[in-house]
Amino acid sequence: MAESFMISHGSGMTSARTRARLVERLRQQGIGDETVLAIIGQIPRHQFVDEALSHKAYDDTSLPIGFGQTISQPYIVARMSELAAQVPQRQQVLEIGTGCGYQTAVLAKLFKTVHSIERIGGLVRQTRERLSGLGIHNARLRHADGLPGLPELAPFDAIVITAAAPIVPENLSAQLSDGGRLIFPVGSQQQELRMIERRGQELFESRLEKVNFVPLLPGIA
Ligand code: SAH
Repeated sequence: MAESFMISHGSGMTSARTRARLVERLRQQGIGDETVLAIIGQIPRHQFVDEALSHKAYDDTSLPIGFGQTISQPYIVARMSELAAQVPQRQQVLEIGTGCGYQTAVLAKLFKTVHSIERIGGLVRQTRERLSGLGIHNARLRHADGLPGLPELAPFDAIVITAAAPIVPENLSAQLSDGGRLIFPVGSQQQELRMIERRGQELFESRLEKVNFVPLLPGIA
């Protein structure tokens, strides 16, 4: 019946079942960390995007979040989170590029404390409110240029950058704990996800996969 077709519109698109389908897709795409998958299965991604776009919140795509920025594609959030999760300790993580806070929320379930830096003041205010509304209280947000990191709070067990740096942000590897990982996209036209791992005084860099992020910009807005 035409009526029953209409009624289903808008209600089922943001449910636990829709999230379960997203989790299944991520598993097929090679995400193997069950803890990360379970977290993605719980976090209401539709509450991180504009209400008008909430029906698209569980598609594996990036979406606009205002201020000319985007929420990252679920696959890349899952990928960066599983790389960050595989560290010896999960005390504190630094995120650079808070945006709407979806990646922040995932990290907050994996680590004791998340420090997250965002250069756009309007996003910091919005996201702070959103996270506390969702009952996430172990994420500290800062309005600043994240590129220098947070030397006064270092070392971090993981550092995750969610905007593409033009060159490798080598300064940040000094803020990693032993066994810690720096996960970041680098490049301008062609971007690549990379990881720097600290073992004692040695650093190991790996090149992971092609990605597509908004650029890391200097200064605050
Ligand atoms: N983590 C977000 C992705 C946000 S997009 C998610 O879960 O979807 C990247 C964000 O990085 C944007 O909000 C942008 O404003 C921010 N950004 C860019 N350059 C920055 C810098 N130097 N310091 C801090 N944040 C920065």
